[in-house]
Amino acid sequence: MRETIESVAIKYLKESFATPDIDYNVAEKHSDILQMAIEALEKQIPMKLGEGGEELTCLNCGKDVLNYYVNYCECCGQKLDWEVSE
Ligand SMILES: [Zn+2]
Repeated sequence: MRETIESVAIKYLKESFATPDIDYNVAEKHSDILQMAIEALEKQIPMKLGEGGEELTCLNCGKDVLNYYVNYCECCGQKLDWEVSE
């Protein structure tokens, strides 16, 4: 994958999961928040569209993308890459 500011941040956050010296509840909250941040960042990396029948579909949530003038999936917020590959 091409390295972007988002992919660098995701890698950094994934490496931050290990938190050996804090108590269990804090560690769990820490992990949940990291996971939320990672998922939000992953949606900022443009994802190519899938071809499901006549419509193009968002490969993150599987819904058809009906509006061809949007940069983000209206259902899940995934950033879309309109350069559809063959
Ligand atoms: Zn979607």
